[in-house]
This record gives sequence, C-alpha cells and structure tokens, in this order.
Amino acid sequence: MTGKAETQMPTKADTQKTASKAGEWTECDVIILGAGIGGSITGAILARQGAKVVLVDAGQHPRFAVGESQNPQLVEWLHILAVRYDVPEIKHLLDIKAVTKYIGAHHGRKQSFGFVRHVPDREPDPREATMFVIPKMLTEASHMFRQDTDTYYFNVAAKYGCTLRQNWRATDLDFDDDGVTVTGQSGEVFRAKYLIDASGFRSPLAQKFDLREKPARIKHHARSMFTHYVGIKPYDDVCNYPDALRPPAESRSTAAPCTT
Ligand SMILES: Cc1cc2nc3c(=O)[nH]c(=O)nc-3n(C[C@H](O)[C@H](O)[C@H](O)COP(=O)(O)OP(=O)(O)OC[C@H]3O[C@@H](n4cnc5c(N)ncnc54)[C@H](O)[C@@H]3O)c2cc1C
Repeated sequence: MTGKAETQMPTKADTQKTASKAGEWTECDVIILGAGIGGSITGAILARQGAKVVLVDAGQHPRFAVGESQNPQLVEWLHILAVRYDVPEIKHLLDIKAVTKYIGAHHGRKQSFGFVRHVPDREPDPREATMFVIPKMLTEASHMFRQDTDTYYFNVAAKYGCTLRQNWRATDLDFDDDGVTVTGQSGEVFRAKYLIDASGFRSPLAQKFDLREKPARIKHHARSMFTHYVGIKPYDDVCNYPDALRPPAESRSTAAPCTT
C-alpha cells in the first residue's frame, strides 16, 4: 500500500488540474489495481470493514489465470482472514467440499506437488521424480480452477460494496501528499488515499517507481511454460514407474481436472 509522494511527483494541485481537464474524478479510500483472487479478496475485506473501495481490472471475468495449488499454510492464512475480518465467504476456500459446493464443480483435491527432472531428448527417469504428498490430516486443500475462483471472489467484492470496473486498464498513476490519482485507458479518473497494486507481474507500480532490480540478482536459465490440458493420462500411467517404487495406491493423487 502506498499513498506517499516521491521526489519529482506532481503536486496535488497539478494532478487535480490534470484530472479535471480530462473530466471528473471519483473519490475513494482505496483503489485496487487487479481483480484476481488477491485483489478481489482484499477488496472484499476492506469493503466489509467499511472502506470505500474501487476495484479495477484490465480484463474481464471469467478469464484464464494460472496458480492453482493450495498448500496447508495458505489454507490456515485464509482461515485467519475469514475469521478476523468477518468475511465468511473466504471459508469457502478452506476445503474441497466447500469449494465444490459454493464456488464450482471444476476444482480438484490438492494432494501432492510433483517434480520430475527433464533432460532434453531423454525419457524422464522415474527415479529422478520427487513427490511431496500433503498429509491428509493437515488439509483438504483444493486444486483451484482459477477462472471460477476468481470470478466468485470478484462477485463477493461486489456484494460487500466495492465499486467495480472491468476492461479498465490503469494507465497513469500520480502520487501526492494526500494520495493517488489513477487514470484508466477510458479516461476515467479515481482519487484514492491508498493504492494497492494486485496486478501481478506487470505491476504498474513497479514500473512507475522503477522497482525491478536490473540486472536481477537471481540468475538462472530456466523457463516456465504453462497451459491447461484436458483428457491427458495421469503421469503414473505413462512413466513406467516400477511397482516396487510406487507409493501405496490409496495415497496416490487423483487427477485434477486441469493442471499447469
Ligand atoms: C506457471 C505458474 C504456476 C503457478 N502455480 C502456483 C500455484 O500452484 N499456487 C500458487 O499459489 N501460486 C502459483 N503461481 C503464482 C500465482 O499465479 C499468482 O501468485 C497469483 O495468480 C496471483 O494472483 P493475483 O490475484 O495477485 O494476480 P493475478 O491473478 O495475476 O491477477 C492480476 C490481475 O490484474 C489485472 N491487471 C494487470 N495490469 C493491470 C492494469 N494496469 N490495470 C488494471 N488491471 C490490471 C490483470 O488483468 C489480472 O486480472 C503460479 C504462477 C505461474 C506463472
């Protein structure tokens, strides 16, 4: 969250002059850039607590999003948020039964995180695979179908009173001592005391304040490729894993409807 001006930022008078030239602006307490699962849940919490919130997104729900796996710690954090800020809908993410009942039938049960070493032009060797199986007693976490999850929480944010904009890309941010002026591609302008950037890896805030490390400290030659697949065989069925090395059948993961 930031509402503070940096050097060379325009003054409040400058920004309001610019805004008024373009038309009118709408005042709010908090503007959130990005209505993915992060922005929408944050918006719901703040609006539930009485803040006047504007939640904007460059795209439109339902839309593709990657990042489906829940782990036990996330489930616990979500539980704390639901209780502490009195947003019972967050509890609908806590176990697969609630997710399926309230959010959508396309979610799976999250039972393991699997990794397999890939060497170009060589079949994967099952002895070079690692599987972290989440103990059942810890969680009934889900493998989220983010199209549905994100749409659901966007609607929850609406229910608690957030002002919503879709197909609304923030193109200009101007900070001053009292807050921030945010201008969208459409020319619409919002004035807010605080801004939350939940826009993901293309963060306008990081761009505006040149927050990315150049060059980045972490150097690697890795790439990530991701998509959703339908109708593929489970890894266990194609890896020729010797029976003696397989986990007991009852602890094997059931295939989720989609995966990255
Ligand atoms: C390959 C891959 C696998 C992953 N797997 C996992 C996983 O298993 N588990 C996990 O927890 N996380 C995973 N992640 C990370 C996860 O995807 C992100 O942390 C998560 O999606 C972030 O959600 P979010 O709501 O913050 O952002 P997003 O879902 O990215 O939403 C950001 C929103 O901001 C909007 N936006 C962007 N720019 C603007 C703008 N200028 N103005 C207005 N709106 C804007 C976009 O339209 C978008 O809807 C994975 C990431 C990748 C790349």
